[in-house]
Formats: sequence, structure tokens, C-alpha cells
Amino acid sequence: MSKDIKVKDHITLFNDERFSEMFERKRELYENAATKEEVAKTLEWTLGEEYKELNFKREHLVVNPLKSCQPLGALYAAIGFDDTMPYVHGSQGCAAYFRSHFCRHFKEPFPAVSDSMTEDAAVFGGHNNMYVGLDNVYKLYKPSMVAICTSCMAEVIGDDLNNFVKNAKEQGNVPEGSLITHAHTPSFVGSHITGYDNMLSSMLAQVGEKTGEVKDRINVILGFDTYIGNFREIKRILGLFGVDFIILSDPSYNLDSPTDGHYKMFNGGTKIADLKDAPNSKATLLLQKYSTVKTIEFIEKEWGHPVKVVNPFGIKGSDDLMMAIAELTGKEIPAEIENERGRFVDAIGDSYYWVHGKTFSLNADPDYAFGLTRMVMELGGEIKHVLLTNGTKDWEADTKALLASCPQGSEAEVYAHKDMWHFRSLLATDPCDFIIGNSFAKYLMRDTGIPLIRIGFPMFDRQFLHRYPTIGYMGGLNLLNWIVNTILDETDRKTMYTTSYDVIR
Ligand code: SF4
Repeated sequence: MSKDIKVKDHITLFNDERFSEMFERKRELYENAATKEEVAKTLEWTLGEEYKELNFKREHLVVNPLKSCQPLGALYAAIGFDDTMPYVHGSQGCAAYFRSHFCRHFKEPFPAVSDSMTEDAAVFGGHNNMYVGLDNVYKLYKPSMVAICTSCMAEVIGDDLNNFVKNAKEQGNVPEGSLITHAHTPSFVGSHITGYDNMLSSMLAQVGEKTGEVKDRINVILGFDTYIGNFREIKRILGLFGVDFIILSDPSYNLDSPTDGHYKMFNGGTKIADLKDAPNSKATLLLQKYSTVKTIEFIEKEWGHPVKVVNPFGIKGSDDLMMAIAELTGKEIPAEIENERGRFVDAIGDSYYWVHGKTFSLNADPDYAFGLTRMVMELGGEIKHVLLTNGTKDWEADTKALLASCPQGSEAEVYAHKDMWHFRSLLATDPCDFIIGNSFAKYLMRDTGIPLIRIGFPMFDRQFLHRYPTIGYMGGLNLLNWIVNTILDETDRKTMYTTSYDVIR
């Protein structure tokens, strides 16, 4: 590289004098900004009790909700199937947002198309966009299945997917015998987990074929779980049990594909033949409850085989998982799994004195929030606040009952429909020792000084955490590692210039 060229990282670039001065001029000349003293005073006020009361009276404004919209979850369900193109019937910008959101989390490309509805479609309907869109998808990418969801625009004008797909087939916009699944995913209700549920249940209903034969095999559904490591972990566990299984929606191929010099649009996932045959398995095991409400209802009603739902976090959750597999399959729990349990219990014992008595506030999607709440209490931690934007009445009741069952939950407060700005007020007025949350919670860390343990979705500002499992005993070890080592980091930071800055902890 030439000596004359200096490439500066943006982290330091904008601290340069010329940029600092430019920002200052911009502020003075154009922004009509309040003085720095006024800004500081107001920010201070927003961290107090008076502001918290006003903040919690807020009714018609949401500030930084802890959720994405339905189609994002629908695309995630679709990407878990082999040779399948996720398709957004709606605006191009929505699809771009979903793809970039996933790219930033997984650090992988996320294939998905949109039929780019614009103003004319808003007036006359989006049917022509879909006919041309489907025609293009099949000509360009040749998928075996297309999974269509809707963005707000298509839902507001009431486009009918069922009819559009039927017409597209009749008009010959798609090749003969094309497999197209579709789900309405209106973003103005629910969240990404509702969209996941809508898409997955639609795929099961539209593709599954019940033959009457019952196969010695179980279906497993992980729900809206963006920890790719969990898909590999459950396959490893089922392998140890010696169980035949189908994972319904397995994105671990598409979203963690090897670099081998060749880009592939589709990298694998649940085979479409397995999706078709899934109703003929002898049972279905679900690892999430709140992201699969409709899916559970559908399987119980239409497939009529035993359904078990577990929340496989921590000791209790992992025990429930292993017992459920044993019960559904009639297999013994393998010795290797028993050893893993013993190691996890040992690690908890070795960490107990660091976690015991520490207080935690957390936010996550409902299934993660429930599992992490229980696991933190298993570790001896105390829960202060559990705050969600996409919580349901069921989730709220289950979480309150869980907290009431344990002394470490007696002081906890539960919020099912609040946002990050509410969370900020809570953390500022009633602080805890640690926050558990996704990347967006780093702003809460900055504003309140409370350290963040990064668990959840999305995770934009740390690399590869999603590759580790969080379920089962081995996943529990990872969670314990992230929790206890953040506590130790914080202990080091606080004791850096004292006699307690020890190597041996
Ligand atoms: S909320 Fe609606 S407009 Fe916004 S990204 Fe989601 S689907 Fe698109």
C-alpha cells in the first residue's frame, strides 16, 4: 500500500478536528439546537421518577419496540426449507429491511424476493405484481417451492393470496405443478413470532399429506430461534437417543453455509418430501410455545398425534427436553446425556457464588424470556424486571407463576407490552446489576451504566454468538459462560485499581 494513503476506521475518523468542527457548525447554523447544558439537564430528568411516571402513562406512541414485524418471521420460517424461495408480496423496501436485518445478525446473505408493489398496486391491487413476480422467480431462480407472505401494503388494501396464487397457476404464470405456499402476515398486529407461526402453520397445512400410515419418527419444531447452534444441538441430542426425526424448518444450512468459492442461492434445509410426510410421524415435539400457538393448534387438531411442548433452557428445561424425547420415543436417556447434565450441574456449582444474589433485568422474545428467567433463578440470580413488547396474556400469567414459585422472583415486575424506552426508565429508577438483552440494549447500558449480557435477537454488534447452542445442558453451559464471565469482567473492571484485582477468581 502506498505510504501516502491513510485509511481511517470510522470509529476514529469522525473524531477528527475537521469533522468535530463541521458538526459543531452544522449544529449552530442549521439545527436550531438546544444548548448542551439544556440537553444534559433534560437527559438527566428523563432518568428520574417524575419522567418514569409520565413515560408509563404514554398510550399512543411506541419508542424502540422490542419486536420486528410479521413478514420477517415468515421469511425465517420459509428459509428453513430446502430449495425454497421466501417471497414478500408487498413493498420492495420491506423485503430489503428483512434481508438486511438477517444479514446483520447471521453475517450471511439472506435470499428473498419481493414483487415490489408501488402506488398503482395500492390503488388497483397487487395481483399483476404477483403474476409477474412469480413468473420471474421461476424463470430466474427455479426453486422447488415458493413461500409467500405479505407486507403491510398488501394487507391494507386486502389482497387475497389464495385467489392470486390460484389465478397465477391457471394463467400459466408458473410452471405446471409448482409448489406455492402462502400466509397472510399483517404487520399491524402481532410481531415477527406471529409471522413465523402464520407461515409455518400454513406450510404444514398446505403441503403436509396425511396417509394414515404412522411412522416410527418424531417431528421437532424449534420455533423462532435464531441460534443456529440449537438446530445442530437438537440433531446431536436426537442422534444420541438414536431417534428418527424431521426438523420442521431448519435454517442452519442456509444461514451458516461454508465458504467454498461458490455462491449457492439454496443451501439445504428441511426436505420438501419431509414436509409432506410430517403428518405421518408418530408425535411432534416443540421447543417453543409462544411463537407456535397456531402451529400447535393445527397439529393437535389436524394431525391428531401426541404433541409435547418444552422450554429447553437451564436445568429444568433441559430435563424436560430429555424426558419428553424419552417419553415420545420410548428410548432410554443416553449415558452421554446424563454425563452432560452432571457437568452442567458441576459448572453451576462452580459459578454459584458469583451469580448468587446478583440482580437481573431482561428482555427477549417470550420463549427466551421465560427460559432465561427460570435459568437465572436456577443459578441463584434475582430477577428485577422482565419486559417484552410482544408478550401475550399466557406468557404474562406463566411468567408471574414462575416468579412466584421461587424466592429469587419475589421482587420481580413483569411487563408484556412495553418498549425499550420504558425499560430505560425502569433501569434508571430501580437499577439492577446486569441487563440481559439483544444488541439494542447496549444503549440502555450506555445510559444507565449497567453491564449488558448479550443474549437474544437481533445480535448485530457481536460476532457469531448465534452459532453456539443455548438449549439442553450444553447450551446451558454456553449461557452460564456468557452470564458468569460478564459478571467476572465487571468485577475486574470495578476492582482494577484495588487490591482485589486478582488473577484467581
Ligand atoms: S411494518 Fe409494514 S411497512 Fe414496515 S417493514 Fe414491516 S411490512 Fe414493511
